[in-house]
Amino acid sequence: MSDRQGVTVFGEVAGDSLAPITLELLGVGRTLANQLGQELAVLFVGNNITTAAQEAFVYGADKVYATDAPMYANYMTDSYVGAVENFDKEHLPEVLLFGHTAVGRDLAPRLAFRLGTGLTIDCVGLSIDSATGLLNKVKPVYGGNAIASYVCEAARPQMAAVRPKTMTAAVRDESRRGEVTIFDPGLDESVIRGKFIRKDVEEAEGIKLEDADVVVCGGRGLGGPEPFRQLEELAGILGGAVGASRPPCDTKWCASSCQIGLTGKLVSPSLYIGIALSGSSQHQAGMSGSKTIVAINKDEEANIFGIAHYGVVGEYQKVLPAFIEKCKEMASQ
Ligand SMILES: Cc1cc2nc3c(=O)[nH]c(=O)nc-3n(C[C@H](O)[C@H](O)[C@H](O)COP(=O)(O)OP(=O)(O)OC[C@H]3O[C@@H](n4cnc5c(N)ncnc54)[C@H](O)[C@@H]3O)c2cc1C
Repeated sequence: MSDRQGVTVFGEVAGDSLAPITLELLGVGRTLANQLGQELAVLFVGNNITTAAQEAFVYGADKVYATDAPMYANYMTDSYVGAVENFDKEHLPEVLLFGHTAVGRDLAPRLAFRLGTGLTIDCVGLSIDSATGLLNKVKPVYGGNAIASYVCEAARPQMAAVRPKTMTAAVRDESRRGEVTIFDPGLDESVIRGKFIRKDVEEAEGIKLEDADVVVCGGRGLGGPEPFRQLEELAGILGGAVGASRPPCDTKWCASSCQIGLTGKLVSPSLYIGIALSGSSQHQAGMSGSKTIVAINKDEEANIFGIAHYGVVGEYQKVLPAFIEKCKEMASQ
């Protein structure tokens, strides 16, 4: 029998609070731990994070660990991988969960390699198989056209990175309290091979793209920066945010922070409207989890129609103004 026990979540902090992905991981982690009849733990790595880490108890954690020191103030791959690796060796979790976030996408694969185990990224469903007791990991494949299930039979820990906004967040329970345990991984700064230069904090105007419930996304077919004003207008009416495929970001028609896809942001809004973009697999990697997908494209063969729930074949110059007018009319009713 394995010496490993319990579910551990890698926690992320946003400012002085727990990041939304951490609440989701605590939600699904609690369910998995209950199914296994084992404990749910969280590990935070950072600087001055112990107060925020304390909050994890209120959201269902049985144990909370913090690696809290100045050398962890900024995310650096070497120090964070080393810290979680040493935590794993000491605490031996059976299941180790990450967010499929900027940090998780960098950290989890390297860690899996170091630990000699498997990792399933971009998971949209996790459960314990009642027959085998193994973690069943579900994720979209082929650009969201199929769903695949994975289990890790031999290696441990069983690792998964969870796509944001796909799990039910843990609910606050003020009656839960506990003491954060400081975990010292025994590393010094010499492990860090990179150099931290600066952190650029994105100006947050309006709703953040990753958090938006409606995303209005433009592609190369818009032909320039001006049409993005129309997209902003539509997003404003629908209470959403503007996104883009890669070409408009590369050509500076819009901010690079708008990019959705493999090398951009991951969004899972209730409504995604893709305008004059083809729906490449790299773009779909960032938006295929959207609940309802609407596409406007002049080419009826465009890939995006393969995953769209609703589509309009036509020049956006004709379709979009009418679409905006209709949305305005409906919003005013
Ligand atoms: C390693 C790697 C990573 C990548 N990462 C990303 C990523 O994160 N995100 C991303 O988006 N891409 C990414 N790409 C690029 C990707 O491969 C595609 O090139 C890109 O998504 C295409 O963008 P697009 O759909 O806007 O442009 P196109 O593929 O050129 O499509 C433009 C579409 O607009 C339509 N159109 C043109 N005029 C009109 C009109 N007047 N009215 C209506 N429709 C019109 C056309 O029919 C066409 O379908 C990556 C590529 C690589 C190699």
